[in-house]
Amino acid sequence: MKSPTPHYVSNRVLKLNVGFLINDGPAHSHDSEFDVPAVRVADDLVLDYIKGPIRLSRNKEGILVQGRLRVGVTAECDRCLDPIQQEIVVEIEELFTYPVTAGVEFCVHEDGILDLGPLLRAEILISLSQGILCGDQCQGLCPECGANRNHTSCTCHLDHVDPRLAQLKELLDRQ
Ligand SMILES: [Zn+2]
Ligand SMILES: [Zn+2]
Repeated sequence: MKSPTPHYVSNRVLKLNVGFLINDGPAHSHDSEFDVPAVRVADDLVLDYIKGPIRLSRNKEGILVQGRLRVGVTAECDRCLDPIQQEIVVEIEELFTYPVTAGVEFCVHEDGILDLGPLLRAEILISLSQGILCGDQCQGLCPECGANRNHTSCTCHLDHVDPRLAQLKELLDRQ
């Protein structure tokens, strides 16, 4: 069922060096365009690609990250478990505080590194948790034998004779 494993780049590509922007001071911003091939975001999440614009703006609290990223994900259909390739659009608007502040989830590290990985992972897992289907017409799996009813037709339902018919059958068999 698994497609050939593509070569994943390390999630280091999601660790942005924003040291220059920290030094520039408030009211400076930097626009860039993400175009990342297959990447391992975390142990439990790989993406086929990440594309889209991202803006980093320096303010008094740190760096505001805004972006609209299109990410390619391969996930399982909720009903039939077939792998589906899907594009999810992730809208990002998150403040990464600088310096690191206790109790704040997203911070720019002392070395000027802003790690987008955990934020992306959280956003994508939220999208995926809403459920995806390979299609509206997906027949799902047979509850009896587990066959994928989109691909095969099993005979489980034929084995279940209506109990009333079963009694009739018994009568007929006796005669
Ligand atoms: Zn399906
Ligand atoms: Zn079946």
